[in-house]
Amino acid sequence: MEYVNSVKIYRGSSMQRSTKIVATLGPASSSIERLTELVAAGVDVVRINFSHGKPEDHKQRVDILRAAAKVTGRTVGVMADLQGPKIRIGKFASGPVSIKAGQAFILDAACKLGDAGRVGLDYPELIDDVVAGDVLLLDDGRTVFDIEQVVGSEIFCRNRHDGELSNNKGINKQGGGLSAPALTAKDMADIKTAAMLKVDFVAVSFPKNGADMRQARALLHEAGSDALVIAKIERVEAVANLEDILHATDGIMVARGDLAVEVGDAAVPALQKKMIRMAREHNRFAITATQMMESMISSPVPTRAEVSDVANAVLDGTDAVMLSAETASGQYPVQAVEAMVRVCVAAEKSQEVKLDAYFLDQVFTRIDQSVAMAAIFTAFHLKVKAIAALTESGSTTLWMSRLNSGVPIYALTPRTRTRYRVSIFRDVFPLLTEYIDDDRDAMLWHAEETLIAAGAVEVGDLIVLTVGDSIGGAGGTNTMKLVRVGEYRRLASKT
Ligand code: PGA
Ligand code: MN
Repeated sequence: MEYVNSVKIYRGSSMQRSTKIVATLGPASSSIERLTELVAAGVDVVRINFSHGKPEDHKQRVDILRAAAKVTGRTVGVMADLQGPKIRIGKFASGPVSIKAGQAFILDAACKLGDAGRVGLDYPELIDDVVAGDVLLLDDGRTVFDIEQVVGSEIFCRNRHDGELSNNKGINKQGGGLSAPALTAKDMADIKTAAMLKVDFVAVSFPKNGADMRQARALLHEAGSDALVIAKIERVEAVANLEDILHATDGIMVARGDLAVEVGDAAVPALQKKMIRMAREHNRFAITATQMMESMISSPVPTRAEVSDVANAVLDGTDAVMLSAETASGQYPVQAVEAMVRVCVAAEKSQEVKLDAYFLDQVFTRIDQSVAMAAIFTAFHLKVKAIAALTESGSTTLWMSRLNSGVPIYALTPRTRTRYRVSIFRDVFPLLTEYIDDDRDAMLWHAEETLIAAGAVEVGDLIVLTVGDSIGGAGGTNTMKLVRVGEYRRLASKT
């Protein structure tokens, strides 16, 4: 039998990296040349921001990305990030206006074009959600308005600091409590576009609870998509309902931009740690996002603080770190990815490998999940070279990767969709394998050769392998084997 596999895994300057990198696409990252560079530098998932651009733009980006990934031989997932009910002021008649500290300013739902004293609202319902005494934060908190009175269509505010206000700046209410539903009419239309583009992940902005996530998933199913859903935790309500959200979502994003405005910036670092830990314990993945390498929008090197921030997210156990404007519109998108790679690898190396203990108290009722836990436990104790999971849905690799074992997990699967979705799990590396005539030994031999060809293992290495009896069925993993690499090659050569 001839053995064929063209898959390469990422080994940027021979470094193996466990933490994944999400890069937002935009004008600075849309050409095939640039995207190829970004993917080669280490991007694992691209984020398409549905707050900007039309469906045609999104489609073009996805097409170019898939082409770039092909050139580099890497598996790159695609995330659609829905705009959600981002509440914004309207536009000004003649450009930005400056407002002095202590100056009065009116947010007026009935105003069409703003001036020095008032501006319109793209969400008129804001009027019903606020009362005198509330605090509104505009432009990510750069402008702070104390509400003095709400009358008719007008919110009378007093400005705290000298500053400037320009078109369509976002509005958050300190402490949360805005009634806007998580999915707007635009989001519902965008969900159809996302399904059409066959994206792998859909991020929902500003969900309040698990019901919001279930609604998003139902709409995706209706549109024919089985994309994994990601809850962006950026509302006070979402923090309070995190447990409920974790039951309904596949992953979360620590969306520090809006979150910091709603809960106060100083509360975010502790919340980040708690959210990542809880996500892992619920078998969900976590992405840490926003301003991670912010200065690299206009600088070729990160600040010391940014380096520490990325490293600390890695130490917190995040699955992925995300770049926003750095890769979407910055001047140094490739350098930003390279810097992240460097920092992630060093942080991972510095981390003590200690198998998380929380799973010891958990009760597993599923056979596949129990086998996954046995595999990770064994791999950790025997310090094997790799875990090879022959997987249909990728679930076994998700469960294994929730525990920090220090052993790379290779997801061997013929399913393209599965390879894309595991691309965001920490410690998990997708590899293409094939079914061979329902012959399990032939398939295991093929898996072994795939791992060798990818440079993951060498003949003689001890590995842990998980597999099911029924080839091709999801949820069928029922076997864990300890394999000395080369065993199946020997078997094959005898027949
Ligand atoms: P955004 O979400 O960039 O879509 O606002 C991330 C965040 O709020 O941090
Ligand atoms: Mn946000």
